[in-house]
Amino acid sequence: MTDTLQEAPTAVKPINHWIGGMSVAGSSGRSGAVYNPATGRQTGAVDFASVEEVDRAVAAAKAAFPAWRATSLSKRADLFFRIRATFDEHRDDIARILTSEHGKVHTDALGEVARGLEIVEFACGIPHLLKGGYSEQASTGIDVYSIRQPLGVVGGISPFNFPAMVPMWMFAPAIACGNTFVLKPSEKDPSASVYLAQLLHEAGLPDGVFNVVHGDKVAVDSLLEHPDVSAISFVGSTPVAKHIYSTATSHGKRCQALAGAKNHMIVLPDADIDMAADAAVSAGYGSAGERCMAVSMVVAVGGAAEPLIDAIKERIPKIKVGAGDQPGVEMGPLITREHRDRVVSYIERAPSEGAKVVVDGRKGANGDGFFVNPTLIDETKPGMSVYDDEIFGPVLGVTRVETYDEALALVNESPFGNGTAIFTRDGGVARQFQFDAQAGMVGVNVPIPVPVAYYSFGGWKNSLFGDLHIYGPEGIQFYTRGKVVTSRWPDPATSKVDLGFPRTH
Ligand code: NAD
Repeated sequence: MTDTLQEAPTAVKPINHWIGGMSVAGSSGRSGAVYNPATGRQTGAVDFASVEEVDRAVAAAKAAFPAWRATSLSKRADLFFRIRATFDEHRDDIARILTSEHGKVHTDALGEVARGLEIVEFACGIPHLLKGGYSEQASTGIDVYSIRQPLGVVGGISPFNFPAMVPMWMFAPAIACGNTFVLKPSEKDPSASVYLAQLLHEAGLPDGVFNVVHGDKVAVDSLLEHPDVSAISFVGSTPVAKHIYSTATSHGKRCQALAGAKNHMIVLPDADIDMAADAAVSAGYGSAGERCMAVSMVVAVGGAAEPLIDAIKERIPKIKVGAGDQPGVEMGPLITREHRDRVVSYIERAPSEGAKVVVDGRKGANGDGFFVNPTLIDETKPGMSVYDDEIFGPVLGVTRVETYDEALALVNESPFGNGTAIFTRDGGVARQFQFDAQAGMVGVNVPIPVPVAYYSFGGWKNSLFGDLHIYGPEGIQFYTRGKVVTSRWPDPATSKVDLGFPRTH
């Protein structure tokens, strides 16, 4: 009986756009395959938008903008509380969709939803966040005040690795600020964004304020070039981020493009080795290493190397790898077959480049699902592809150095600057590291220092193109522009013609 059920062919469901408050079937004739990465089977076919379909979504967002920006702050806050309640009620459903198309395990998917919800919670405070400044009597009888106003239609382009959280990072603050939104989610796991659109609708968000268009470069480039789109938020890989930033800004748009990473975790000889090993394993193999904040390189200083490698080796066989919807499973598959093969190729190449494969995860790479098991590679160095490239898989490299200064140099010479961490019991060294590290997010005995919602998230160097980080206070700044009003309510009796340049008095 069970066997027969397992053999039944999986239905391929169509995944449509969401425009103007309703599901809209694609008409371009182009679509992309969506897989369950744990089985390797196609489960969906996602519409790929044409330029005309993107136009339609932008037009819906543009039409919704005047009424939405005029909606009072208290009504917007009230709606965000309802959105928060609706998302909260459906946490589990969102997480199941994430697991089915991304592959991450259910508990990890729930964590993604929780971190996304934090941004929605932050947006509930929008009346406070949009308060301006006021200077009474800046000049005699003249007051000056600043306000922040929304930009208009904002576009968001999101990556496969956080199909619910990253869209929430973007649309929650953007919409709360009074903008309307067009999201182009990853074509690899697009269902979560459509489900979020349905939930926003259910919570009472007016039609057209949030739209989803699926697709590839055609849809993305149409958004980047569209005259009615004022700003672009992007999260994804570095080469695409560069293209997004240069195209959007050359079309006069504000742009924040968060990009790839290669995060180093320094372990000093005085660190608690068990705690550091737990952290490296959790941050290196969680979500199969497909997090932009994953630890991919452990920099072991002096005597830390041997005990740390032993402790990591001891932990790896205990990690339960499998389908993310199965109880007790801790690590799921990679996103696609091609990505699995790419990760395997790094493990294959490592010995010829001079590194040492201590634990080889390739045996997990057989079968229909897109699995690679946790892998540990020692003696990695700059210049090796396993060290230099963003592998984005469950591959943890160890680099051995003798001093803190050498470890710091590795962090600062990296072309990426997303996150980094130091493990030590020495507060003075940790403080110096926080001062010196060229990265946007630093952890002190914390391996994945993703800032809470009321700070902002973003890297330096090749990990972010643009000026402002995402969500938190910088998110509010990004999705609004400033206006300063200089105002006088004169006594008509004192009025006179004066052609001089206005001076304070
Ligand atoms: P990706 O760059 O391949 O895709 C991101 C988005 O861009 C998708 O919506 C995709 O459809 C679109 N896209 C892809 N190629 C394009 C092209 N040539 N022209 C226009 N649009 C294109 O990234 P991904 O594989 O989905 O996500 C993983 C990457 O994202 C990793 O590099 C990871 O480090 C990065 N990431 C960074 C952060 C961060 O905050 N810095 C967070 C999450 C993920």
